[in-house]
Amino acid sequence: MRKSDGSRTLQGARESAPPKAGRLPSPVVRSHLMTEKELIEKAKRARLKAYAPYSNFKVGAALLTKSGKVYTGANVENSTFGLTVCAERVAVFKAVNKGDKDFAKIAVVTDRNPPVTPCGACRQVLSEFVKDLRIVCANLEGKVERYTLKELLPEAFDRRSTDKT
Ligand SMILES: [Zn+2]
Repeated sequence: MRKSDGSRTLQGARESAPPKAGRLPSPVVRSHLMTEKELIEKAKRARLKAYAPYSNFKVGAALLTKSGKVYTGANVENSTFGLTVCAERVAVFKAVNKGDKDFAKIAVVTDRNPPVTPCGACRQVLSEFVKDLRIVCANLEGKVERYTLKELLPEAFDRRSTDKT
């Protein structure tokens, strides 16, 4: 049922030219033709920045906007546990903070088999901004599973839920 769109190889979408001398590279990578494989690779790299000394469960996320920008995130744990923030939400908050709310796809990478899907809290946070998000869950062995946000959170809480009608 799920279509593989990872096989589409649109060339010419490689990361932009090297940064100009004297400038730090932008944390946001612009590409209108980001392939699924590339997005997963960015999530995999982001995972290396996870702060997970308590669980050692490292998660990386790469969030692609419809304008072609990518925001990455990794989980940040806390000794109180309850204050831990997931990789997906780190990526979403970075994007929103830059004024980007129109998301197309998110890749999530862990070392688990089968690949892990976003938790309920992250699904809800993602649904605040887009209803038609594609979610790609991958692991380090190269296994990839694809979902839509609607599949993972069919009855999201939204503004209508609090409307008095
Ligand atoms: Zn989460």
